[in-house]
Amino acid sequence: MSIRFKTLTELSNQLAEKKLSAAELCQHTLNLINKDNSNAILSTCHELAQEQAKKAEETIITQNANTLTGIPIVYKDNFNIKNQLATCASKILASHRSVYDATVVDLMQKKGSISIAKANMDEFAMGSTNENSAFGHVKNPFNNHHCSGGSSGGSAAIVASGTVPIAFGSDTGGSVRQPAAFCGIVGLKPTYGRLSRFGVVAFASSFDQPGIFSHTAEDSAIALSAVAHHDAKDSTSVNIKNQDYTKNLNYSISGKTVGLVRLLFERISDSEIQNCYQKAIATYQKLGVNFIDIELPEPELCVAAYYILSSCECSSNLSRFDGVRYGYRSPKSNNLNNLYTYSRSEGFGAEVKRRILLGTFALSSGYFDAYYVKAQKMRRVILNEFNTLFEKLDAIMLPTSLTTAPKLGQDFDYNDDMCTITANLTGLPAISHPVGLANGLPVGMQIIGKHFEESLILNKTHQFQSITDFHHCHPNTD
Ligand code: GLN
Repeated sequence: MSIRFKTLTELSNQLAEKKLSAAELCQHTLNLINKDNSNAILSTCHELAQEQAKKAEETIITQNANTLTGIPIVYKDNFNIKNQLATCASKILASHRSVYDATVVDLMQKKGSISIAKANMDEFAMGSTNENSAFGHVKNPFNNHHCSGGSSGGSAAIVASGTVPIAFGSDTGGSVRQPAAFCGIVGLKPTYGRLSRFGVVAFASSFDQPGIFSHTAEDSAIALSAVAHHDAKDSTSVNIKNQDYTKNLNYSISGKTVGLVRLLFERISDSEIQNCYQKAIATYQKLGVNFIDIELPEPELCVAAYYILSSCECSSNLSRFDGVRYGYRSPKSNNLNNLYTYSRSEGFGAEVKRRILLGTFALSSGYFDAYYVKAQKMRRVILNEFNTLFEKLDAIMLPTSLTTAPKLGQDFDYNDDMCTITANLTGLPAISHPVGLANGLPVGMQIIGKHFEESLILNKTHQFQSITDFHHCHPNTD
C-alpha cells in the first residue's frame, strides 16, 4: 500500500482500521526517505523510530491510541532529540548528538508519534533558500532546478514529496511559511510564546518560534493541539489554557473582515502569480469574506529592523560554539585564543559569520543606540500599527513571497523576506497555504491573525481548502 501523500488523518484511520501497522508505516516511510533525492533529510532516527513504532502498535491494539499514535514526524535539524544528531546543518556541530529532547519533540512523542528523521536546513536557520546548509542544498520537489526555500527547506520538501504528513521547522523571519509556500504546502508559525522553544537551538531568541508543515489546516490543527502547552523550561512560553485547535475549523467565515496589503500584491511582477492571488481572493469572497485595503509599515524598514535585531541576538546566542564545549575544535589551535578563532572560523559558514559580525558591530559601544536601540523602537512602532489595524480587522492577507522558488544559485537577498518578517517582529501568528501553481511552481497565500488566534487563521485556511483542490496538487515523485 502506498503511504505517499496520505494526510495525518488518513494515516491515522488506516492504523485504527488495522489496514496498516505502525511498524509497516515506519518501514514504508524509512524506505521513501532512502529513495528521496532532494537532500531533504540529513539523518534518520531509525532505531528510535522502530522502537517507538513497536510501542505505538501496542497502544493501538489496546485501543488507547489518539490521532498522532504511530505517525512518523520529521524535525528540522535544530530540534534536539535525545541521542540523535543535531547538526543545525553546520560543520561546527557535524557530529553533535543531543543529550535531551526539545519540549515540542517530547510532547509529540508522548502522543505516540514516531520521531523518524532530521531535516536539512540553512546553517543555524540563517537563509531563505537552504543553500547555506553545510551539507548541500535541498531541491524543490516540483522542480529540481529550483530551491526548496528556507531555512526549513528539508522539512518543507519532505512533506511536499508526500513522505511524511507532518514536519516541524522553526520560523524566525519566515522560515516555515516561505518554504511551505515554495513547496506547495501549509506552513504555520504560531504566536511567539505559544510553542516552547526549549531544546530548539537558538538563532534569535525574541523571534524564534517552532512551526508546523502539513498538507491541510486540519492536520496542522491536530499537531498544534498536541504541542501548544505551557512550558516552565522556556520563560517566554505563555501560560494559557491548552486548546483543541480543530474545534473551530468548520465555522463559517462569512462576514469576516480581512485587510489586504495591496502594496505587496502590486509589487509582484509575474502575471501567473498575480493570477493565483486574484483567484484566491475571489474564493475567499465567495466564502463571504469582506476585504478592505490596508497599509503596513514600509517593508524595507521592517527588513532592516529584523536583520539588525536578529543578527544582534544571533551574535550572542552563537558565542557558545567556541570549540571548547560543543562540536568542532580546530586541530590547528595551540592556545585558548586561537582555539576560539580557528574553531569558529573553520566551523561556521560564510552567512553565519556575516550575521555574527553584523550583530557584534551593531551591539558595540558607539553604535548600539544608532542601530540596536533604533531597530527596537521600529519594532515597537510596527507592533503598534498592527494593534491599531486589528481593532477593525479579523485577519490580514498578503503574499508569502513576491516570487515563486528561485532557481538554485540565483540571487535572493534580505529584501525577499519582506512579506514574512513582520509577523516575527510583532510575534503575531501567521500561516501560508497553497493557492495554485505559477509557471509550474507553487504560490502561497499568507494570513496573519491576532495574538493567540491560531484557531481563526486555521479556520480560514480550512474553509478555503474545503472548496478548493490546491492542497491535492502534488509534485511528480516517480
Ligand atoms: N530568511 C530569514 C533569515 O535568514 C529567516 C530565517 C528564519 O526564519 N529562520 O534570517
